Amino acid sequence: MSDSNRHNAPLRLSRSVVGREEAEAVTRIIMEEGYLGMGAEVQRLEAEIAAYLGVAAANVSCVNTGTAALHLAVQAAVPQGGEVLVQSVTYVASFQAIRAAGAVPVACEALPASVTIDLDDAARRLTPRTRAIMPVHYAGYAGDLDAVYAFADRHGLRVIEDAAHAFGSSHRGRLIGSFGDIVCFSFDGIKNITCGEGGAIVSADPAVNAAVKDARLLGVERDTEKRFAGQRSWNFDVTAQGWRYHMSNIMAAIGRVQLRRLPQEFAPARRRLSALYRELLQDTPGVALLETDAEGTVPHIMAVRITDGRRDTLRGLLDGEGLTTGLHYRPNHLHTLFGGASRSLPVSERLEKELLTLPLHPALSEDDVRAVCTRLRTFMQENR
Ligand SMILES: *Cc1c(COP(=O)(O)O)cnc(C)c1O
Repeated sequence: MSDSNRHNAPLRLSRSVVGREEAEAVTRIIMEEGYLGMGAEVQRLEAEIAAYLGVAAANVSCVNTGTAALHLAVQAAVPQGGEVLVQSVTYVASFQAIRAAGAVPVACEALPASVTIDLDDAARRLTPRTRAIMPVHYAGYAGDLDAVYAFADRHGLRVIEDAAHAFGSSHRGRLIGSFGDIVCFSFDGIKNITCGEGGAIVSADPAVNAAVKDARLLGVERDTEKRFAGQRSWNFDVTAQGWRYHMSNIMAAIGRVQLRRLPQEFAPARRRLSALYRELLQDTPGVALLETDAEGTVPHIMAVRITDGRRDTLRGLLDGEGLTTGLHYRPNHLHTLFGGASRSLPVSERLEKELLTLPLHPALSEDDVRAVCTRLRTFMQENR
């Protein structure tokens, strides 16, 4: 895209990359399947996600958002009033999901190098009510996930991974979701794969899977099995709080195409563009690149830290030139609902002022990345 075009069409931060194949899949559901709600197509997507991850099909439960996945996971694993350790720098979805389940999000610091949870800080926030830890795989990178599991073992905690950014990423050679306690993915419009909206819970714990499969359908017992067999439940019992969180056949049809495109198309494009950013921005004064795993991570966002205090000036300048940037995220302990800055988390508050997300999606060109980097480098080298 030439510079003159960019003023007409701003460079987008992120976008859905969908086309004819997804449209045909939706058409097939409408014209042939005859049922748009939760049925056989959702069962197919669950089986294909399971095959991709190398887990049993029963271990995957698709829902209508990543937030719903987190909500149901917390509801299944954490008793009312239980405390969940979670980094403050995450999407508000992590905090709202914990709260929705009647549990208490306990805001922790993140490590500035990776924006993953700081376990030393988390250790100081343990109480007799702590029941779980929710690591967030920021930008698709899980950090020292082994240390998170060791920490959880030591303190008898469940682990609920917020892997919304990390579908397709590996940790030490193993796909996120192929191991671990409870792993939650998001398939919203801009995630590594999309169903339009959507999410999934992956766990090897049969009690968790039984609980989330009922809870996504208003707590109607074993309604999932009925719907996958093309039937409905008429006489049933309800024994636990449920929600209307199931995925539809329409969403699953889009997701199945996206899942096929991920390894060949989306993951290599995200890795290539992210590697190019890193090459072009390394050694730029005032720019700190985040830790990642070049082979294992499927980078979801291209966040960097602007450490010279000029993040907002830079952001305004890029914005004025049609180069859209983002802020991931406002620390949640600052939100009124979660304490309204009644406690101070200095590292998270510094990250809020430093983090800047640059455009990244599989339809971005290398020239687009070069244009962003050139502008950013020039600015950082000016007026020092
Ligand atoms: C996107 C996201 C979620 C929630 O997923 P939705 O599908 O948008 O509900 C949760 N946590 C993080 C870190 C996310 O980026």
